[in-house]
Amino acid sequence: MNDQKFEKLSAVKGMNDILPPESARWEWLEDKVRGLMARFAYRNIRTPIVEHTPLFVRGLGEVTDVVEKEMYSFEDRLNGEALTLRPENTAGVVRAVAEHSLLYDGGKRLYYMGPMFRHERPQRGRYRQFHQIGAEALGFPGPEVDAELILLAHSLWQELQLQGVRLELNSLGQPPERQAHRVALIAYLEAHADQLDEDAKRRLHSNPLRILDTKNPAMKALVEGAPRLLDFLGEASLAHLNALKNILDANGVAYTINPRLVRGLDYYNLTVFEFVTDSLGSQGTICAGGRYDDLIAQIGGKAAPAVGWAFGVERVLELLKEQAPMAAPAPWVYAIVPEAQAMPQVMQALSGVRRAGVSVQMHAGAAETWGSMKSQFKKADASGAQWALIFGADEMARGEVTLKALRDGVGAQSALALSALSAWAQTLLAPESINLQ
Ligand code: ATP
Ligand code: MG
Repeated sequence: MNDQKFEKLSAVKGMNDILPPESARWEWLEDKVRGLMARFAYRNIRTPIVEHTPLFVRGLGEVTDVVEKEMYSFEDRLNGEALTLRPENTAGVVRAVAEHSLLYDGGKRLYYMGPMFRHERPQRGRYRQFHQIGAEALGFPGPEVDAELILLAHSLWQELQLQGVRLELNSLGQPPERQAHRVALIAYLEAHADQLDEDAKRRLHSNPLRILDTKNPAMKALVEGAPRLLDFLGEASLAHLNALKNILDANGVAYTINPRLVRGLDYYNLTVFEFVTDSLGSQGTICAGGRYDDLIAQIGGKAAPAVGWAFGVERVLELLKEQAPMAAPAPWVYAIVPEAQAMPQVMQALSGVRRAGVSVQMHAGAAETWGSMKSQFKKADASGAQWALIFGADEMARGEVTLKALRDGVGAQSALALSALSAWAQTLLAPESINLQ
């Protein structure tokens, strides 16, 4: 054996391992999302984690936090191509939709799940590798699809029984309206130049709208007195917003209009929204989205309207964890095997139980430390299983196995024919005995 000592390696800062039992909550959430997306007729799309850097620079906008300082960019070592680990997935989805002409036969409703990468200062709810689940509807111009997406997110919070999530809504209008507002906004900010922080000064002429999104408390009063984009909207933009509000009202989805809500990425127009909570400190936005009718053309595709959102999986799970502790996942059945020699026959029997859809954890070990019945029972108990199946040599010789209840009616014991094991497992799945773990 090589006894050389190696330095212990650890995960990259801001990038987390997701371990059991916590990973069970991730799978549970993902299952809920898949079910809900199917019911809204959204289809799954999977795009690469690495894209050409210009996709994000052009798509997200040069003067955004993400492009200015958060991207993991590198050069391909063979051909020198500029590549980036995706900081978000809307640009990638749009690229794929354009590349494969997915809109040739009408609009598409898509969703994705996966890791995103941003070089930020790691803290609660803010990581360098984090996960987003997002939905995008491409090719639909009307406010009913903005509403559908908001209802979809709203339904998800309901299904997850997530409490204390508020919806904030705004309209960014269309480019000419934003241009008129921008002129007024710059004039206002210039008149108060002494109150601008470094970030705001830098953005004054490149991206003044983003100044409204400042997290600097010292600029709060200034920002609150700034000209409101809402006051610059024309008839069509207002009609779009009102139609959306009507649908939300009719569906009992509460919202507040927040005239200062702008999004961190440049590609939005008309509808923008965020689902926020007060429970996660300054990382209170769990889901954000809006309309981005110009993005597809901006990255070289055929112009088409689009709207979407993405939520941060870590933030939603963090909130859920505060609100509802989840039981650790447990197998349904634990197989106790007094003699290691019985394993071939035992495992054959267990495969029938598993085929019936019942989860089984079997005893395992080295021959010399196989474990007494007592220690095996301890493990069975610690596993959280409902039932122990005891594959004793005598029973097996009779073609039987012993069944013992570990929770309800604990201790109750009965003999079961090995040949009836799968049938017994199937009875566990009968509706009245369904155990949702
Ligand atoms: P923030 O203002 O918190 O930086 P953002 O505007 O940069 O958020 P978006 O680009 O809109 O975020 O991403 C959508 C969602 O993804 C956010 O609302 C949040 O829930 C999640 N998210 C964004 N960045 C991170 C991160 N670094 N770590 C964990 N979750 C994140
Ligand atoms: Mg950010």
